[in-house]
Amino acid sequence: MNAIGNSGRMPALFIGHGSPMNIVADNSYTRSLQKLGQELPRPEAVMVISAHWLTGGTYVTCTQHPRTIHDFYGFPQELYRMRYPSPGSPEKAKAVAALLGQEERACDYDWGLDHASWAVLKHMYPQADIPVFEMSLDYSFNEWRPKPVSYHYELGQKLRTLREQGVLIIGSGNMVHNLRVIDFDTDAQPFDWAASNDAKLKARLIEGNHKALVNYESIGKEADLAVPTLDHYLPMIYILALQDRDEPLTFTYEGMQNASVSMRGFRIG
Ligand code: ZN
Repeated sequence: MNAIGNSGRMPALFIGHGSPMNIVADNSYTRSLQKLGQELPRPEAVMVISAHWLTGGTYVTCTQHPRTIHDFYGFPQELYRMRYPSPGSPEKAKAVAALLGQEERACDYDWGLDHASWAVLKHMYPQADIPVFEMSLDYSFNEWRPKPVSYHYELGQKLRTLREQGVLIIGSGNMVHNLRVIDFDTDAQPFDWAASNDAKLKARLIEGNHKALVNYESIGKEADLAVPTLDHYLPMIYILALQDRDEPLTFTYEGMQNASVSMRGFRIG
């Protein structure tokens, strides 16, 4: 058996990242990330599809030494002093650019690792010794409408071969995420609509009902509350797009934080 199992393919992950306070927390969620880092086959590189890198078109970071980006405000100073000094992987990033059909035009040399990446990786790979690069979300608008979710699903399917090249693909967002009504108490009682939407999304993941997850509005009237903007939902769609028919999906964590954020994560393969 090789390092990445009988299938020769890396698993892929969707991770809910939630509040930056999780960076310095020790809770059931952060422990689930530590466990994942220990259990997964060791990747040659990690690619994070980030809810916090929104661009016109899709880009990948092709830098050799990605900088740590502290893209959050009003948090304890301790968080701003932290760095995640992992190397980049220009070679793998350029391979992604090629898969996207854009060659090196898709390479970005300014962005680094925002907290959608390092808040999670700090728990999974605390040594920061695995090369990491990010992929952005195409958030361009056409006639006031964002690109449809199906566009992202189809783009995600183009990334499938990466799993055979030792790349661990992580979508980092939150399936239910509403900051307008957030409670600053991490363990606050979840809103009913937040918990029920999370349960509906869970059921669709278990069914393997990709179509319903792409058409998330079909959840009903509360979809606007659970998914008020697409930025934190889309990273999950990319991971779904990597799932083969009959490939198992297992939840790596479930729970709510701050009353309106689902920390649900899952693994395929
Ligand atoms: Zn976020």
